[in-house]
Amino acid sequence: MAEDLEKLKQRLPLLEYLQQQHWSARSTSHGTEFVGLCPLHAETRPSFYVNARKNLFYCHGCGQGGDLIRFLELSRHLSFRQSLAYLAQQKAPALQAEVLEKAAAFYHQQLPHYPEALRYLQQRGVHDAALLHELQVGYAPGGNLRRHLTTAGYPLELLQHLGLVNLRGRDAFYRRVVNLYGRSLGSVFPHRFLPGSKGDLVAWESVRQFSQVILVEGLFDLAALWQAGFRNATCALGTHLTPAQFRQLSGPPGRRVYLAFDQGDHQAGQHAAQALAHRLQQQGLPVAIVDLPTGQDPNSYFVGGARAADFSLRLQGARPL
Ligand SMILES: [Zn+2]
Repeated sequence: MAEDLEKLKQRLPLLEYLQQQHWSARSTSHGTEFVGLCPLHAETRPSFYVNARKNLFYCHGCGQGGDLIRFLELSRHLSFRQSLAYLAQQKAPALQAEVLEKAAAFYHQQLPHYPEALRYLQQRGVHDAALLHELQVGYAPGGNLRRHLTTAGYPLELLQHLGLVNLRGRDAFYRRVVNLYGRSLGSVFPHRFLPGSKGDLVAWESVRQFSQVILVEGLFDLAALWQAGFRNATCALGTHLTPAQFRQLSGPPGRRVYLAFDQGDHQAGQHAAQALAHRLQQQGLPVAIVDLPTGQDPNSYFVGGARAADFSLRLQGARPL
């Protein structure tokens, strides 16, 4: 706990916090020291000193001094615990995104070192290294992410809160191929997400320019289509679109949407495709459902030997609603 506290304080330097609170100061003749009016008591001549290197303050007027936690206790009338919670909250959204990106980058770096991961990608027909990088596909061998991130200064509590580390303190992802969204792409738990990390449609910045868009279920479906040259494909990592993703897809009127969902035996994919197609059509979008051979999804279709021309025919023959 004491160690995590140090890291939390390091992540938000006292001076940076004070500047966020519009404390104005000038540096003294010692380069790392700053002086300004005391935020803790009324005064007209500056007597509040901050040592930026040590992350400590001292006021010669009221005699108060200490670290950022002490400053929060005094200025916001919080208990020690409340100050900690306040501090953690201050940095929360940016820090969470930063940690997820660090985790994704770390997993991506692991990928080439694990033959089982490369074999799995080969089975799924993904061979384009640039594409793996673009989709931030990585491998979680298990047992090294926690060390990597805590060494870099991220508190264990945050890693647990994000679902990267479980409550027993172990890496949550173990021997699995994952991507930026923390989604497991392996066959063991195919539908697991990190809480709260589902964002835009995948690669929406590059796909939004197209007047015709192909929506698929899975990241490997997307990879297969991109490799075959269909760069207008995107994916919501599942059949359910969040309201924000739905708005993205239905943004400009007239965009044609092809739904190429899993044609598995369970039919869940087809029902989801029908429901989504109706909703899109209500927004005035021309929608068509792509038929694939029974039991196939776009990924298995290409892995099974289909070519770009075959899929083009499937697009042409897609059923309008
Ligand atoms: Zn003071």
